[in-house]
Amino acid sequence: MDDRGKCASCPSICCRYITQKIPTPRARSDFEHLLWQVSHEGIEVYQDEDGWFLLVHAPCAHLEASGACGIYTARPPICRDYSNDFCELDEPAERHFRAHFRDYDALLAYCRKRFKTWARTA
Ligand code: SF4
Ligand code: SF4
Repeated sequence: MDDRGKCASCPSICCRYITQKIPTPRARSDFEHLLWQVSHEGIEVYQDEDGWFLLVHAPCAHLEASGACGIYTARPPICRDYSNDFCELDEPAERHFRAHFRDYDALLAYCRKRFKTWARTA
């Protein structure tokens, strides 16, 4: 986030999660592993035009109560490179997701459609 202007009126949306690209899940075992991951609080999975990602809801340790960055002048490159010209305050990132699994039940429903032999009780 930026410590001025637009960011000052935002609940620091971009400082409250991380994402991690993951290999494209294809096999049943891949989805079984993802089911374990999304069973944990704050963990979601999504797919966009760049592939599949874990979404981990976790506020940055440097995010101050005021919404300012506690290490602003030394913040990591990914934070420096993120422009607030048109950001998540303007448009939720979810708008560009092709698939989004917020929890175990959502991903399990997808698995049952994708794998016809997936046990109904799995
Ligand atoms: S989401 Fe946009 S406005 Fe909000 S803190 Fe991040 S860059 Fe600033
Ligand atoms: S280092 Fe600063 S700008 Fe980067 S995520 Fe943390 S609080 Fe936000």
